[in-house]
Amino acid sequence: VSFGFEDVAPEEKTRRVGSVFSRVASRYDVMNDFMSGGLHRHWKDMFVRRVRPRAGDSILDMAGGTGDIAFRMAERGARVTVADINEDMLAVGKERAAKRGLQGLSWLRQNAEELSFGDAHFDAYTIAFGIRNVTRIQSALDEAHRVLKVGGRFYCLEFSTTTWPGFDKIYDAYSLRIVPKIGRIVAQDEDSYRYLVESIRRFPPMNAFKAMIEKAGFVQTKVEPILGGLVAIHSGWKV
Ligand code: SAM
Repeated sequence: VSFGFEDVAPEEKTRRVGSVFSRVASRYDVMNDFMSGGLHRHWKDMFVRRVRPRAGDSILDMAGGTGDIAFRMAERGARVTVADINEDMLAVGKERAAKRGLQGLSWLRQNAEELSFGDAHFDAYTIAFGIRNVTRIQSALDEAHRVLKVGGRFYCLEFSTTTWPGFDKIYDAYSLRIVPKIGRIVAQDEDSYRYLVESIRRFPPMNAFKAMIEKAGFVQTKVEPILGGLVAIHSGWKV
């Protein structure tokens, strides 16, 4: 499997991704603002508007990290389970939730590829900027389908490939040259940020990923590109 541009054994990828997020956890939120110029907040708002969480919905926010998506959904009255493989990211999230006095959240260490929940458990499954870090993506999608109730919705927010001519070049230069430097200067961690950029490049194109969602059993799948597909929202239904 790929770790950035390198090919490594699956267990090695899981281990390395773990250490990347343990290293970046404490600076994760400021770095997101810094590197996206605050845009990630707008993408996350847009994403949660698509999910349309309702009061009382039971939602699994997978790879939920420090809680950005979960908080937006809890504010609308949903009961959110924030699940992530990395305890350090979850610890930062719990602290942020406590500071905000947010209710209705539970935090759980889980590997997206192998969930401990029973079948047909949740009304919706969300995963934001998480799936590309997962070692066995198809297993994670199969698990998402399994834990959703019939009528449940799947939503994924992820970097993809922009189809806007010219914009792709600018983005290449920014992400490959500038982001790792920001990582070095601001977070003293060039390698982690190089991985994050490279992992975006190795992620399947929008339609290939949509096909994987369908393979997991989801129907009425949709992809909504943002900025020509720099970021994309994929969704589907379990029926
Ligand atoms: N969803 C959050 C957000 O949008 O800010 C966090 C995204 S962060 C870029 C990616 C997260 O995926 C990390 O917290 C990481 O620990 C988690 N992750 C990576 N592999 C995972 C796996 N196999 N199962 C669950 N979480 C995983």
